[in-house]
Amino acid sequence: MELYFLGTGAGIPSKQRNVSAAALRFFNDQGSTWLFDCGEATQHQILYTPLKLSKIDKIFITHLHGDHIYGLPGVLGSRSFQGTETPLTLFGPKGLKDFVQTSLSVSGTFLRYRLEVVEVEDGAVFKERNTVIKVKKLVHGIPSFGYRIEEENQAGSLQVDKLKALGVPPGPLYGQLKEGKQIQLEDGRFINGKDFLGPCKKGRKIAVLGDTRYTEAAIELAKDVDVLVHEATFGAHEQELAHQYYHSTSVQAAKVAKMAEASSLILTHISSRYGENADRLLNEAKEQFVNTYLAKDLWSYSIQP
Ligand SMILES: [Zn+2]
Ligand SMILES: [Zn+2]
Repeated sequence: MELYFLGTGAGIPSKQRNVSAAALRFFNDQGSTWLFDCGEATQHQILYTPLKLSKIDKIFITHLHGDHIYGLPGVLGSRSFQGTETPLTLFGPKGLKDFVQTSLSVSGTFLRYRLEVVEVEDGAVFKERNTVIKVKKLVHGIPSFGYRIEEENQAGSLQVDKLKALGVPPGPLYGQLKEGKQIQLEDGRFINGKDFLGPCKKGRKIAVLGDTRYTEAAIELAKDVDVLVHEATFGAHEQELAHQYYHSTSVQAAKVAKMAEASSLILTHISSRYGENADRLLNEAKEQFVNTYLAKDLWSYSIQP
């Protein structure tokens, strides 16, 4: 899977950074893409990536501040104008349904696909195929949530060469062996599928958080994740300001990653006051947590199994 950063700025767009949005692209059969937040002009940003609106089948909204939702009506409308008929589920805080229904109806936008809006609460858990989504409330003045995406572990691949060497011909038996079942061969021998499976593939874990102050809830969401996407609106020296505006500093984000024993941290939602000097935030965070990256618009990060 690949994480694309579509907007990495805070509050208002700048020439370097658009407002919030990130996309998680799966390389599964459906080629699904999940969008996290949808600030204004997210659909314009998508034009510069390999992402397709038709493949977006879930959108997770962290909170209802304009820099995270003003791009929604545009994305939803264009997805329909392009002829997409596959359903889409939108997750987010209470009030999201009103916002979407009002903007679509006032603008006379008719969607040719089924849109489901799920308003989330602290502690909500959803399951989608082999992936579990956990939701926790953060601290941001208005309800703001973080999402933890957990893939289930997958059984290892069947060691076909080993089976062929034993004279087990390919066929429906292979399916049963892959499920780890014991089978009897025509010659009377019993073999157990578990003896012919490679190492199990560990599912990936990702946490994408909304705007927040430093909070324990963020640490819980990020426990042992491969990637934590955390806001860093301010630099370390602006801790007071960050607290006042319900945001985090670069160093606080790094502390969350460290406490949660995450594998990597990506900083986003960077205030435009840092302009070309945002590397300063990266360096501060790295002092606490080495494997830190600073997101940029249209940058992508690959998450290997
Ligand atoms: Zn924001
Ligand atoms: Zn906000």
